[in-house]
Amino acid sequence: MKKWVYFFDEAAAAEKSVGGSWDGVRGLLGGKGAGLFDMTRAGVPVPPGFTLTTQACNEFRRTGKFPPGMWGQALAALKQVEKRTGKKFGSSSNPLLVSCRSGAKFSMPGMMNTILNIGLNDEVVEGLSRLTNNPRFAWDSYRRLIEMFGATVFGLDDEVFEHPMGEHKKKKGYQLDTEMTAEDWKALVGIFKVEYKKHIGEDFPQDVYKQLELATQAVFESWMGKRAVDYRRATGISDDLGTAVNIVTMVFGNMGFDSGTGVAFTRNPSTGEKTMMGEYLLNAQGEDVVAGIRNADPIANLSTHMPKVYEQFMKITSRLEKHYTDMQDVEFTIERGKLWMLQTRNGKRTAKAIVKIAVDMANEGLISKADAVRRVTPDDVDTLLHPQFDDAARKKSEVLAKGVNASPGAAVGQIYFDADTAEKMAKEGKQDVIMVRPFTKPDDVHGMIASKGILTSEGGATSHAAVVARQFGIPAVVGASAMKIDMERRLMIIGEKTITEGEWMSVDGATGEVYLGKIPTSAPSLEEQTDLLTLLNWADDIAKLQVWANADYPKDARRARSYGAKGIGLCRTEHMFFEPERLPIVQDMILSDTSAGRTQALDKLLPYQRKDFDGLFEAMDGYPVIIRLIDPPLHEFMPDEEKLLEEVVTMRVKGDPSTGSGQADGLPAKEKLLAAIRSMRESNPMMGLRGVRLSIVMPEIVEMQVRAIFEAAADCTLRKIVVHPEVMIPLTGTVKELEWIQPRLERIAATVMEEKKVKFIYKFGTMIEIPRACVTAAEVAKLAQFFSFGTNDLTQMTFGYSRDDAERNFLVTYVEQGILPKNPFQTLDREGVGMLMKWAVDEGRKTRPNLEVGICGEHGGDPDSIEWCHLIGNNYVSCSPFRVPIARLAAAHVALKYPVKKVAAKKVVAKKVVKAKAKPKAKPAKTVKLKSKKK
Ligand code: ADP
Ligand code: MG
Ligand code: MG
Repeated sequence: MKKWVYFFDEAAAAEKSVGGSWDGVRGLLGGKGAGLFDMTRAGVPVPPGFTLTTQACNEFRRTGKFPPGMWGQALAALKQVEKRTGKKFGSSSNPLLVSCRSGAKFSMPGMMNTILNIGLNDEVVEGLSRLTNNPRFAWDSYRRLIEMFGATVFGLDDEVFEHPMGEHKKKKGYQLDTEMTAEDWKALVGIFKVEYKKHIGEDFPQDVYKQLELATQAVFESWMGKRAVDYRRATGISDDLGTAVNIVTMVFGNMGFDSGTGVAFTRNPSTGEKTMMGEYLLNAQGEDVVAGIRNADPIANLSTHMPKVYEQFMKITSRLEKHYTDMQDVEFTIERGKLWMLQTRNGKRTAKAIVKIAVDMANEGLISKADAVRRVTPDDVDTLLHPQFDDAARKKSEVLAKGVNASPGAAVGQIYFDADTAEKMAKEGKQDVIMVRPFTKPDDVHGMIASKGILTSEGGATSHAAVVARQFGIPAVVGASAMKIDMERRLMIIGEKTITEGEWMSVDGATGEVYLGKIPTSAPSLEEQTDLLTLLNWADDIAKLQVWANADYPKDARRARSYGAKGIGLCRTEHMFFEPERLPIVQDMILSDTSAGRTQALDKLLPYQRKDFDGLFEAMDGYPVIIRLIDPPLHEFMPDEEKLLEEVVTMRVKGDPSTGSGQADGLPAKEKLLAAIRSMRESNPMMGLRGVRLSIVMPEIVEMQVRAIFEAAADCTLRKIVVHPEVMIPLTGTVKELEWIQPRLERIAATVMEEKKVKFIYKFGTMIEIPRACVTAAEVAKLAQFFSFGTNDLTQMTFGYSRDDAERNFLVTYVEQGILPKNPFQTLDREGVGMLMKWAVDEGRKTRPNLEVGICGEHGGDPDSIEWCHLIGNNYVSCSPFRVPIARLAAAHVALKYPVKKVAAKKVVAKKVVKAKAKPKAKPAKTVKLKSKKK
């Protein structure tokens, strides 16, 4: 018969049933289960228990019933637990209580359900009370069971029980749960049972086996609960996985002040620092800490409260961290001085902590540098380079409140007091939203994800709000207790100030500070993020692709260089024509009818361009700089035709408004300009006179540009700056175009070097953005010494879409309807555009084996497109300076994913085999890796 149930010490059997992979075990038993099995095997104190597999859950979901044999196996396992613990389920003389806990392959904190204290009923509670000589504990446990059972199995609103409990506390004048006496809890159990019957229509089940069965069903069902489904949508976890159910012997943190419960991270999940961070509560049960019901103590205090337990705890957690080679998030309970571990998993953390922990662990020798690089995603790097508050502006603003800095980042938004409103305002109202709550619960997650920031008045660093915010990279401040939220009047009061819903606030998740109004934000500096710099340097050592940047001005080039760019892949020269003092000269040039007239105007532009290039070369000293010759159609430099026409008409009617003379002095000039612009009009300018075509019709412009480039390069060389200019001819469609223009330009290059008596290395090459150029790449490469893919135009022309029109009118529909997998202007279309690129590289290198190949379109900063560039053998990708760090990491990831099969690669594998000594399987390196992997 199929095995649906595994006892905690059956790790080996579970492993065997999935073919030996730890990833498979996690799939079968869920992450929580796998952790419990692993800890049991390692001799860590885990309360005895067993796990019903995810396969059982999937069967249950398919048929609506437990699969045949499963419940029998569960009852047999329960007998086994009774034997190990010497207790009996349902007995009132020596009762065994258990928890029924959900646990999927990937942890979904708080998204599914867990029921504690199963096995209590009216008789057992009396027995437990006598046995422990602690009636307060027994009745407290019983009321928790009714509460959790009602909520989980029957979906009762928390309010059903919270309300009478609040009333009771008020009546007695209590502030805290700990003030409740045995009598109070007993009274409350009575009230809870009445409420239970009122809402459900039957009594709370006294049959403990019925309790266990219903609880198990409810946990299976919670897999498809709304909040679990929402969470999976947001995190991309598949619905097919199912959840396991873990039945675990209860250990009690609420047996008095020698008992307690807590959660801890082995390193700080917010900053990554190597210090244990956690909280615990004495005389409390598991969920109390996470719910933030009482303010918990920092874990360090445990060393004075219970030094022995603390020492044991530190030892166990450090072992767990080494075993999983990752930061662990653990749950523990102390029952009358004895420590029990209830959960361990790789902890969720901020982008900052991801980087710091990866770098630290590599430096500690726990993982390799390649592992460290692998653990950080391009998105993490992106997050780290996101805006932070402008320091000067922040200093001027008044701190309204301070809370726990739970998830770093700067958030500015309008405040809303509940998840639904927050989500609505963000999605429909297109507002930047900050969700403000006393504390958050799992059914608030949709609002949190839609928000720019989260702010709570209660709870600590391990509260629900903090955990979720960190995971999604949303800035959060929690436990800002100075805020008094009035849900009814939809406002909050901080000191003297009253702030109503919809007002703007700024929240700094890194410092825990909360401000009224909007504080401007700015990009953080990479130089200060030393761990990220270290990691990126490791990434560079791994990557095969270089990362260059698109930069038009020296200041952009300097930023690109400081972000690690190894060259400029695209400098768009035409931007330089738009500067106010230059544009009139450019327009003169365009309007002159003769070549001599054009040359005259261009002579005036030359010194400007030379200066532009000089600055670029200086900034990129030692690195290549690709300068693209003029690309756009000339009408882009001219005044807007419609506006001009309006002016002309007005002047004709009313005279010249600028002189007010009534006489239209400027009119003839304007009329001439208008006529000129009209004569330049093209029906499809983007496919008309531009790029190399313009250079052939009107070579004076590019001749001036090439002269400016080489004069600047020569001047720099004389100043001991190492220059590698690369002149890029745009929009080539046939090699004949290059044959026409390139020799003329090369002659200018030679002339300048002759004049200045200097020599330096340079290249002439072309942008590849027309399908025909790709197809005939072998020919094109006869002249072009380098190719640079302009994938924006190449995508437009390959698909026959105009980007603006496509994005405005139909791309969304296409993606929705599955006609295109993604927007091809954001993620390179590998099958079409990508294959043209591949062909171009292969053919080009047949003619010119050392042909330099790069990409300079927006795709150069997109990780998926970078992967393709690696696969087709690009030398570099070029992207905006801000994306350079992201691209560096992506380039390393693809190199790790597709290692070059050489002797060196084999050596790496061999080393891992040795490490994995205990498991001589077919692919040992993989087994070991998966076991320690987060997902
Ligand atoms: P979650 O995945 O939401 O953390 P858990 O199944 O881990 O849910 O349980 C919720 C809380 O109950 C945790 O604090 C956990 O430590 C505690 N808990 C679960 N099982 C037991 C048990 N057998 N004894 C004591 N506490 C338990
Ligand atoms: Mg847990
Ligand atoms: Mg182009």
